[in-house]
Amino acid sequence: MADAWAPAEEIGLAQWCEQNIRLPRETSANPGAPDFSRYPYLREIFDWCEAPEVERIVLMFPPQTGKTTFLQLLLAATAVLSAAPAMLGAPDKDALHELREKFYGMCDASEALAELVPPPRLRNNRWIDVGATRCHLAWSYNTQRMSGKSCRLVLCTEIDRWRKTKTHGDPRLIIHERVKAFFRSLIVEESTPSDEDSAIDAAFRLSNQCRFLVPCPKCRHRQELRFFPRKKGPYAGCGGVAGLRDDTGEWLSVDDALAAAHYICERGCKIDSGQKNDIVAEGRWVPKGQSLDVKGKLVGEPLRSNRISGARLNALYGETVTFGKMAAKFLECRGKQAAMQVFWNDWLCSRYMKRAKAPKWREIWMRLRADHDPGSVPEWALFLTAGCDPGPGYVRWTVRAWGEGSTSALVAWGTTRVDADRVKDHGHSRTAHLEALRGDVLERDFPLVRVNTLGQKTLRVALAAVDVGYRPMAVHEWWRSLPAELAKRVRQVAGRAELPDGAPWRKRTVEVSSRTGKPYAGGQQRWEISRAVYSQEVHDRWRQPLDEPGAWFLTNASLGQAELYLQEITNEAPVRRADKLGRMRTFWEKIKKNVGNHFGDGEVYAMAAAEMLVNRNWSEVAERLRRRLKQSQPAAPKQRFETPDGRPLLITER
Ligand SMILES: [Zn+2]
Repeated sequence: MADAWAPAEEIGLAQWCEQNIRLPRETSANPGAPDFSRYPYLREIFDWCEAPEVERIVLMFPPQTGKTTFLQLLLAATAVLSAAPAMLGAPDKDALHELREKFYGMCDASEALAELVPPPRLRNNRWIDVGATRCHLAWSYNTQRMSGKSCRLVLCTEIDRWRKTKTHGDPRLIIHERVKAFFRSLIVEESTPSDEDSAIDAAFRLSNQCRFLVPCPKCRHRQELRFFPRKKGPYAGCGGVAGLRDDTGEWLSVDDALAAAHYICERGCKIDSGQKNDIVAEGRWVPKGQSLDVKGKLVGEPLRSNRISGARLNALYGETVTFGKMAAKFLECRGKQAAMQVFWNDWLCSRYMKRAKAPKWREIWMRLRADHDPGSVPEWALFLTAGCDPGPGYVRWTVRAWGEGSTSALVAWGTTRVDADRVKDHGHSRTAHLEALRGDVLERDFPLVRVNTLGQKTLRVALAAVDVGYRPMAVHEWWRSLPAELAKRVRQVAGRAELPDGAPWRKRTVEVSSRTGKPYAGGQQRWEISRAVYSQEVHDRWRQPLDEPGAWFLTNASLGQAELYLQEITNEAPVRRADKLGRMRTFWEKIKKNVGNHFGDGEVYAMAAAEMLVNRNWSEVAERLRRRLKQSQPAAPKQRFETPDGRPLLITER
């Protein structure tokens, strides 16, 4: 039966849809044959579906741009032209049933399909039948529906609204498994983006990232339609919607902007809304890395292959959206966070980042500056920790004081300087920068501003965490060379994005170098530190009230003295993206490439070291330390606590 409808000559899927499918009046804004002049950007995507090298298609489109119609047409066309099992995944049952109804409605209205679908009484909510094709229906928190079935075509709609289940993990990964049994298969995912955790945004980033380039009606320069004009680069001030402000730079009223808004071509030509749909009709999808010359010829090298083909549109490409309409929407939403997220998601088609930007280093200095001099310790301090981050030939280190309730202040920071003579002496050069840590950090007495509650006048670093990320073998050799008293105050640490079960740290013993295969003499004891826990914690501390436990201070150093330190601690921000296995993770990444983040790492490790010392319990720290100090002092046997049968009583700390 399907063969009867197969085209006599080779025609594309889009053309087949135009000839054979009719959209019903009841559910379609544009009834009748699918009219791709209304959605010019969809035609090419049908061709992607037929390209043998394309395994996945990612459509990041705003609402009302025809993306669900596209899925239905694709399902109908492939069901008839090349029958094979399929699956349709939706965020929930209701969305799925609505889609099923729309699909059957479309089939009933299309002569070519009406006799290929079952009569209404034989339709069920587990699958859709079209001729020889069965399309299983699955929704995101019913992973059972997704498992165990092999499908050649997998269609996923509105993936940013899919929910993860605690027990079965990410439904997208489960549904992706469905195509394994087929040599050639296709997964199509579509959605409007959401927030930081946007799945469609992450999927699009892994794709060849196509933009839909349209020609300027005046100069023929091919460009992407954008809302905000470019801020920098050769097209600064152009390539966007203009006419939102008056001559003095004030925002226009919504009504005035509706009339005044127009488009400025990247080369400066003015484009009116009346010309927009004509140029969109001439548009073409172009992968990132490539562009179109004036004659429309593809130039440049694509960033990635089209194995994962991604397409992204903003609302300006929509048939009914004029430049004025979009400008008016922006002015309506401006300054209101919830409304702005809608504008960002549904109009700009970008994920909305709720997170505030990393605080600027000057603001941090102004807010967190304290009274004590660099090198000295506030009187409330009970112990010190250090975080050290070795780089090529130097080590950046920070020393922090900790008090009751985890209140903390910077004591000192620096970069080890290596004695030129020792570097020349070949025997010492490998670890000379690390050896300098002994004098600068480990064996240094830091004076308290006044005697603290434990009666101490000076403090030494109780625990120093040294990163093994750079030349771990050298760190290990240096650690083994330390006298026992120092070695027990030093831990070798490694930063990890996250640890299983949200653990703050875990200890491992590494026997051989994964890079060189060389064994670590005696095994390297390595504490892995969760950045998800401690990078976040350090950043959160900057906003902590200054008069409550948990406050976080600097010293009284001037801005100039502290500049490098401040720039480095603020040069990291959390980024949500998929890891190698496709799981969403938070990665702390450098913001400015030309500035380091070593002092930032130092602070993260100093905090982790402090938490290790108190075993994450910040209550009654002074009392517990007092007990520990007493224990460590050689006491006369008479003073020792003993059980009635004469055995020493062990004082265990909580
Ligand atoms: Zn132009």
